[in-house]
Amino acid sequence: MNWISSRSRNRQFSLREVLFHGLAPDGGLFMPTNFPDISPNAKGESLPQTALEFLRPYFSPDIPEDELGNLLKEALNFDIPLRKLSDSIYVLELFHGPTLAFKDVGARTMAGMMDYLYDGDEPLTILAATSGDTGSAVASAFLGREKFRVVLLYPSGKVSKVQEQQLTTFGQNVTALEIDGNFDDCQKLVKQAFSDPEVRKSVNLTSANSINIGRWLPQAVYYVHCWQQFNQQNSGDNKPVVSVPSGNLGNLAAGLVAKRHGADFEKLIGACNANATFRDFIKTDKYRPRSSVRTLSNAMDVGNPSNFERIDEMYSGDTNTIRKHVGSDSFSDAKTLEMIVRIKEEFNYLICPHTAVGFAALFESSTFAEKNHPGIVLSTAHPAKFGDVIEQALAEPVPLPEVLKNAVNAEKQSVLMKADYEAFKAFLM
Ligand SMILES: *Cc1c(COP(=O)(O)O)cnc(C)c1O
Repeated sequence: MNWISSRSRNRQFSLREVLFHGLAPDGGLFMPTNFPDISPNAKGESLPQTALEFLRPYFSPDIPEDELGNLLKEALNFDIPLRKLSDSIYVLELFHGPTLAFKDVGARTMAGMMDYLYDGDEPLTILAATSGDTGSAVASAFLGREKFRVVLLYPSGKVSKVQEQQLTTFGQNVTALEIDGNFDDCQKLVKQAFSDPEVRKSVNLTSANSINIGRWLPQAVYYVHCWQQFNQQNSGDNKPVVSVPSGNLGNLAAGLVAKRHGADFEKLIGACNANATFRDFIKTDKYRPRSSVRTLSNAMDVGNPSNFERIDEMYSGDTNTIRKHVGSDSFSDAKTLEMIVRIKEEFNYLICPHTAVGFAALFESSTFAEKNHPGIVLSTAHPAKFGDVIEQALAEPVPLPEVLKNAVNAEKQSVLMKADYEAFKAFLM
């Protein structure tokens, strides 16, 4: 497979270039030159086996098949179960990885691929500005891999206690920089480092951010796995509608890749919080990016979702077909809290605020509510990661799973730093 930019088909790139550059030179997002012929088995195998069959046409022979199989076994060593709440409602639990959010799937697969393909003499430094799930998923995925060092920048006092403990207790090849500033300051420092020739000359840098092909494309695998589990649990041909809590739209765009390869969903729904850029595009045909606003489902607070460009490219800008395949809706924080209460009361099941937006969108979808298609909500994070919001909704504390207990009890190790580029540069070099 060769790769192109979403902005031009003129130049082709190798898997190695695509993985280590992240973004195309013209600012576009990398895409495969074509969608290969893959027809996943409707009944399914194990998750790593499904992953290998699905990803082989994309990533082999750059990564030989046996190597790819091994790294997928190691990356996807946890379950992604489809849990049935009622005859018509299912949840795909994507939060059983080591950092309890769906970002583990992409981050772990990318880390395995980079580890195989990186052949530089010096260690590769992975820089990530983070306000939550991304940093811990990336750090956990690269932890203990000797060819890499991970530097996380997070805004002091602006991430939750549990998230801060997760970010600052890895040790080994991971350093957490606690920046005296906000998330934008962290991002600015990272950008400055990438455009500083002096730094680039002496330090090998990469960003490993969420638009990287190595993180993005493997997410299609759990949609196939979901479809297979749904087929095992159901007979008949009433196709499910899938609600996807959405921010930067990587998850949703990966679902559309799986649909193209035969995971036969009736429709996907991009479930948005108050950051409704995508909902407005689906309703009006106009893509109008805006600044993000803060909500309770903060991993979805994105006003200009990067992966919109991927969706647009996949459909060659044909909005009518996009609309046939994808719906979208937007919900307030009040609705988010209401859903957490409703799902607890109706099904005795705890959901995180992002998943709650997914439920709200499912219940509002006419495909589910009027045409009676069964519904699947992707659960993107474990509720205990957002205990303060759950407590606000239910007035009762959420029990911490073992891994979070360990993180909360471990000693915080961070390097405090002003939001000052010279200090950051000195640290990097
Ligand atoms: C990142 C994240 C999202 C948004 O996913 P995108 O792929 O950016 O749309 C939703 N929920 C949780 C918990 C996340 O961490």
